[in-house]
Amino acid sequence: MSKRLWSSSRCLLSVVFSFLLLVMVGATALAARIYRVQPGDTLYQIAHYHALTTEELVKANQLATTLLLPGQALVIPPATPRADEQLYTVQPGDSLFRIGQRFQADLQWLRARNKLTSDLIYPGQITRVPKPKYVWNIPALMARHPGKVFLNGTTTAKRVALTFDDGPDTEYTTKILDLLGSLGVKATFFLKGNNIPGQEWVVARMIREGHIVGNHSYSHPNLRKYSPEGIMREIKTTEELVAKITGKEMALVRPPYGEMTEAGLDRLVGAGYVMINWSVDSLDWRLGSTEQIMNHTLPQIKPGSIILMHSASEGGRDLTPSVNATERLIYALREMGYEIVPLTELLPVWAYK
Ligand SMILES: [Zn+2]
Repeated sequence: MSKRLWSSSRCLLSVVFSFLLLVMVGATALAARIYRVQPGDTLYQIAHYHALTTEELVKANQLATTLLLPGQALVIPPATPRADEQLYTVQPGDSLFRIGQRFQADLQWLRARNKLTSDLIYPGQITRVPKPKYVWNIPALMARHPGKVFLNGTTTAKRVALTFDDGPDTEYTTKILDLLGSLGVKATFFLKGNNIPGQEWVVARMIREGHIVGNHSYSHPNLRKYSPEGIMREIKTTEELVAKITGKEMALVRPPYGEMTEAGLDRLVGAGYVMINWSVDSLDWRLGSTEQIMNHTLPQIKPGSIILMHSASEGGRDLTPSVNATERLIYALREMGYEIVPLTELLPVWAYK
């Protein structure tokens, strides 16, 4: 009898104890988590998996030794991201490459910040990814200057515009010009000023062949980091280079990455410029094959679409898929009943001042 009583009171005790433990763990769990050591785990692996250092883990658990026993409970404190980081939990199906695309981080950055020795990552793993630098402010810009900021045309007619950024160059831009010429398509090229010296003839050729040229800044910075004066300097320098070649002052501005400040836009609009972003990003420089570019781009096409592509590459990237996709896209758009027009025929804007 006493044995049974002892057993039931022991049972009760353990329930009470478990409850207390739950409350304690629960309170800790607000800030930290508990991890049960698995056979074969090392302190370094557990720390790494949770974006912590071994020292942080040792401190949080007041460990006297780095030897772990299977089943041992470890308190996992939350990792502290640096000012330019946020934490991301790896999801099933994620790869480092996909995370890089999603958070616009290059692989070098991800490897370094996460101290990765290989590109293998595991679901549940805590990784450091870049914090988004800016909130997408285009709706605010559009509301501030109605009719001066465009993402797409408002037409219901099946008309779209092809736009090519970052040129001129003598490798891909010229191939795209050949292609557009042979297919009778007029497009818009947003020029990067520091690509112009030595390649002026490519700009002259664009104008001669009936295309529109627009301003894509001089050095391709994120203009949200610039003062209105800095923005104007970037725009004016390129404008003057192009004016020397063509005699035209470009009125259409596509800021690099589509980023612009309110104060910068005030200044631009005051000086007679219009800002043109895009509604369809072909991701041509990022996707590896023509097929991928087509599959990504075509489903997004609507009447009035402004399609973003690139005619020059940064850092020697191979843009052959872009060139090939341009040709395929033109055929596909025409098959879908779309007319490809220069921006000035899609939007109520003048190309030049
Ligand atoms: Zn660009």
